[in-house]
Amino acid sequence: MRFNFVTIFPEIIKFLEFGVIGKALEKDLISINEYNPRDFSKNSNKNIDDSPYGGGEGMVMMAEPLASTLKSIKNKGKVILMSPQGENITNFHINSLLEESTVTIICGRYEGVDERFIENYVDVEMSVGDFVLSGGEIPALALIDALSRKIPGVLGNQKSFENDSYENNLLKGPVYTRPQNFEGMEVPEILLSGDHEKINDWKILSSLQRTIDRRPDLLDSVKLTKKQKKLLDNLLSKRIL
Ligand code: SAH
Repeated sequence: MRFNFVTIFPEIIKFLEFGVIGKALEKDLISINEYNPRDFSKNSNKNIDDSPYGGGEGMVMMAEPLASTLKSIKNKGKVILMSPQGENITNFHINSLLEESTVTIICGRYEGVDERFIENYVDVEMSVGDFVLSGGEIPALALIDALSRKIPGVLGNQKSFENDSYENNLLKGPVYTRPQNFEGMEVPEILLSGDHEKINDWKILSSLQRTIDRRPDLLDSVKLTKKQKKLLDNLLSKRIL
């Protein structure tokens, strides 16, 4: 997958040079090209912002440098503006964006972006949550990371994301590693039993239990196997009693 990263702080992309995403970049499983709207500013100070019409606080990113930046990108794919006013990103958005071979991600700054640029150039506005950050770069990094880890070959074991939280609308249950006893707390015995079927049942159960406890809203749209459904009914009936 190819990412076009439109930002006035292109150095921020260095945050992705670590861990599995860093390896994906090295292996060319993903590529990221930075575009700085300052390079497309027509004024001598390389300004890309100006004060808002009608007054008010802060500055607004001008439409022109952003439009020229986008015009310079040959293969844009889907054009996404990171914005607190956009759709909150869920696993559903990640899965549908994975069908694109290229995405262009625009990072706003200051009070945001001139609305006319959004109308003419942006396909979709996306948010990382109902709060405001000072720039779109961290949301863009989150989006690139979430997409990249689902690209075949990026995670060592392809199955590792298939059991992640939000795959199939369930949260993943708790996980444990050595030592067996930590500050007097034991690892659940079943995980030490070596009985793969029982361990698998335990994992399904703990994932269902965690979803009931923390995100019961997810259960409305979950698609369960027969086994999962039986275990869920069991858990729910115990809860009601
Ligand atoms: N004044 C605007 C917020 C501007 S924040 C408002 O009240 O709606 C500056 C930039 O940070 C935005 O243009 C956007 O690109 C980015 N940003 C801030 N919060 C974000 C969020 N929750 N999700 C995605 N991008 C965000």
